[in-house]
Amino acid sequence: MNKRRPIFNPKRARAKTQPDIVVVEKQLQIMPPAPHLCQVCAVAHEPDEAHNPQSFYYQYTFAMQYKRSVTWADAIAHCSEQKQELWIQFLTKLGIDIHSPDIMGGIESKEEMNRRLYGSNSMG
Ligand SMILES: [Zn+2]
Repeated sequence: MNKRRPIFNPKRARAKTQPDIVVVEKQLQIMPPAPHLCQVCAVAHEPDEAHNPQSFYYQYTFAMQYKRSVTWADAIAHCSEQKQELWIQFLTKLGIDIHSPDIMGGIESKEEMNRRLYGSNSMG
């Protein structure tokens, strides 16, 4: 029998964005981020930029350490005061409470985000 080569599947070929999770002795363990990534949130960003609170790695390790969900306030706590102020202005414009674990502030689509940022008339 002729073995066919597997058909290219873009869903399977998509870039790996989340860290590996392995089950060891029935305990969920999470692998540390690759060395080129932020070691707190496992996302590539400059050290003085905000951590990504949408990162599964950050959410998981934060919850394990602090027994609560990560917030934007946590994600920007290490930034300069000036940078924190910019984030707070931006998030406030989006209607997101930086102290809430609801890091998306109920935003469920790009359209909703644009509407909150620019108002309902400018997005056509
Ligand atoms: Zn980070």
